[in-house]
Amino acid sequence: QIVTRFAPSPTGYLHIGSARTALFNWVYARKTGGKMLLRVEDTDRERSTQEAVEAIYDGLKWLGLDWDDEPILQFARAARHAEIANELLARGQAYKCYCTPEELAQMREEARAAGLPPRYNGYWRDRNPAEAPEGVAPVIRIKAPLSGEIVVDDHVQGKVVFKTENLDDFIILRSDGTPTYMHAVVVDDHDMGVTHIIRGDDHLTNAARQIVIYNAMGWTVPEMAHIPLIHGPDGAKLSKRHGALGVGAYRQMGYLPSALRNYLARLGWSHEDDELFSTEQMVEWFDLDGLNKGAARFDFVKLESINGHYIREAAPEYLFEVMVATALETGREADHEGLSSNKETVLAALPELQPRAKTVLELIDLAQFIYAVRPITVDEAAEKLLTSDARVTLRDVHELLRGLNEWTVPAIDAAMRGFAEAKGLKLGKIAQPLRAAITGRTVSPGIFEVMVLIGKDDSLSRLSDQIE
Ligand code: GLU
Repeated sequence: QIVTRFAPSPTGYLHIGSARTALFNWVYARKTGGKMLLRVEDTDRERSTQEAVEAIYDGLKWLGLDWDDEPILQFARAARHAEIANELLARGQAYKCYCTPEELAQMREEARAAGLPPRYNGYWRDRNPAEAPEGVAPVIRIKAPLSGEIVVDDHVQGKVVFKTENLDDFIILRSDGTPTYMHAVVVDDHDMGVTHIIRGDDHLTNAARQIVIYNAMGWTVPEMAHIPLIHGPDGAKLSKRHGALGVGAYRQMGYLPSALRNYLARLGWSHEDDELFSTEQMVEWFDLDGLNKGAARFDFVKLESINGHYIREAAPEYLFEVMVATALETGREADHEGLSSNKETVLAALPELQPRAKTVLELIDLAQFIYAVRPITVDEAAEKLLTSDARVTLRDVHELLRGLNEWTVPAIDAAMRGFAEAKGLKLGKIAQPLRAAITGRTVSPGIFEVMVLIGKDDSLSRLSDQIE
């Protein structure tokens, strides 16, 4: 059985790049009928917070990425990490190092003088522990191979060769008995039965070091796929402005989880020329071989257009719930109240609104005409249409509409066409100021549909607000 894992560090929100890593692990597990496990890497006690742990759970749930079994908290496994470090010691694969900070500083200095990267020189590797100085708590270091190479045979990067001379005897257990990150990851992945590690390629050099530990324990190295990080549209590191945000920020900007899943999958994975695919199709088509080696570039325009597609496709009932939740979460109290108390009208209007919106926030804006409080706010562009001539015309229109017995789109349409003809005006010359007066905007669904949706009384009242 295939076991993948998502192993975020809870030091902030669930970053969009991490969400993509989670998605690939999830898709691969679902495709193969395997498991995706969640491991919270909370060993950095200073930077890890419970709030961030919750943000990870919330973000994954919102994205629809469910994990199997209970989440594993890495810090709670410290005793197990120490146990394996001591086992490596007993097997002669690791040793205690008593170097003082001053000695280590000197080693770094010597390496620098020789133009080499800082590295531990193996001082205690073969030394008799009887020489250990008193009062110095030792760290445990792994014995890295002295010659040859470590090969990371990666599904995305291919065979990546690391010369052992670049891998020093790194620390696996600190002097206070806590494990290093490098060591904890290996022990956990092994104990969790992880068969496939899919993560960002910023972990590629760690992979070489982790393989040293696997080999020392005689454990099977999991399959690996190191995916290129997400870059900004300009090819530079992804900045906040270019999308380096938490998943919650995307929810608040009005993106649907289905759209984000689709878009994130496309950022680093491809299936033929397909841009739009459902999550079911993604699960069906996904393969590690389809992961791209080139860096992905984040593109808000593309994300918006994909989001627009999912908004058009969504069921009104679902969108309504999302709109209400989004209004609440973003502090749009009037919208939250207005939407909640006009559910039926909003549902009826949604099929007209959906093709006009790219985000849920736009959808909310478009729905505002339904619950706008009189006198409604008229935006600048709409105000321009309400010239004094137009207001005079609207007075006649008001009169005419008031006399209508039947309040349906065909009835209003017929009345307005007759009126336009009688006045020698184009229908648009009447419909535009009418829309401005009734919705306060220049963009809305068909204005006669709007008038039917909000009803005769409300339509006439809004109209009279603009003609007096
Ligand atoms: N905790 C690491 C991170 O958030 C991931 C470690 C891993 O996947 O091995 O970058």
